[in-house]
Amino acid sequence: MTGIDDLPVRDELRGTSPYGAPQLDVPVRLNTNENPYPLPEPLVERIAERVREAARTLNRYPDRDAVELRTRLAEYLTDTSGHEVGVAGVWAANGSNEVIQQLLQTFGGPGRTAMGFEPSYSMHGLISRGTGTGWISGPRNDDFTIDLAAARKAIAEHRPDVVFVTTPNNPTGTAVPPETVLALYEAAQTAKPSMVVIDEAYIEFSHGASLLPLLEGRPNLVVSRTMSKAFGAAGLRLGYLAAHPAVVDAVQLVRLPYHLSAVTQATALAALEHTDTLLGYVEQLKTERDRLVTELLAIGYEVTPSDANFVQFGLFEDSHETWRKILDRGVLVRDNGVPGWLRVTAGTPEENDAFLDAVRELKKEQEL
Ligand SMILES: *Cc1c(COP(=O)(O)O)cnc(C)c1O
Repeated sequence: MTGIDDLPVRDELRGTSPYGAPQLDVPVRLNTNENPYPLPEPLVERIAERVREAARTLNRYPDRDAVELRTRLAEYLTDTSGHEVGVAGVWAANGSNEVIQQLLQTFGGPGRTAMGFEPSYSMHGLISRGTGTGWISGPRNDDFTIDLAAARKAIAEHRPDVVFVTTPNNPTGTAVPPETVLALYEAAQTAKPSMVVIDEAYIEFSHGASLLPLLEGRPNLVVSRTMSKAFGAAGLRLGYLAAHPAVVDAVQLVRLPYHLSAVTQATALAALEHTDTLLGYVEQLKTERDRLVTELLAIGYEVTPSDANFVQFGLFEDSHETWRKILDRGVLVRDNGVPGWLRVTAGTPEENDAFLDAVRELKKEQEL
């Protein structure tokens, strides 16, 4: 039978596998950092209305520049950060993964490299590979904070074209202090200069503020965002970035024409009319996240301080075996391959109770 290896696929793709967490049919799914709350009914109604309207003109291509959507996104960013963001400095695509892909197509590519500080979001490395960009894994401390001295050294040595800083970081939950991000930006400018991409997929869940104000006077800085987590709209596929308008002009050199469908634009616009309700859920999830931390510590697990909607916990001799035992109790968490650690997404109070019951049982079993 013909397989992938029989096809003339690119050499660097041979022997690799597609990215993705297992989508298992389990009662409690806390493995992909989704928001557990379905969209509120008034928003569902509004989406239906807006999509019905968009359907009337689906014979035409959508607004290629998504101007209305980018205007509303700029307003959302300005309102929530206090930093003035204009439409010319905002770009949107199908999930922040596509935003990252466009950035790597623009600023990375064959003969160029990108760097991230691992463990971090593995898609940064995978999209680098997919765009022919070399990947360099930068260091972290044992407590998963960024080792600034080592990071500076790595940047000076490798002179990457793109540097990713994920804050709050996935899968560890660790926030990166603004001073550290600034120091990394300075190091990256001295070395090359290169683009620094702050991945703020989880910023709405953070104790700290967005780093959007750092964009001021730094044209090589990009902040990427998504509606997949805080907005509870992972199924929508809408990500966006804020940066100097020149960066937005640059990514347009690689974007496919009409990449963002009229249906997607209409749905995202509806969501942006309901940010108050959506950010209300975020507050509940932050409370649940903090409860998970407190209870996991009380049970006797170790926890990495979290600024996101998930918690990294351990330590396990064999994290995959523990992952399996938790799954046997009907709860799906994530094994990100960080030795000794697993990650649980904050769900509804009931889902979190089910998870806590499962890991409490496991702890008792181990003590017998
Ligand atoms: C989930 C996540 C994203 C979101 O990707 P989308 O394509 O917008 O769904 C981006 N960055 C990080 C670090 C994430 O964890």
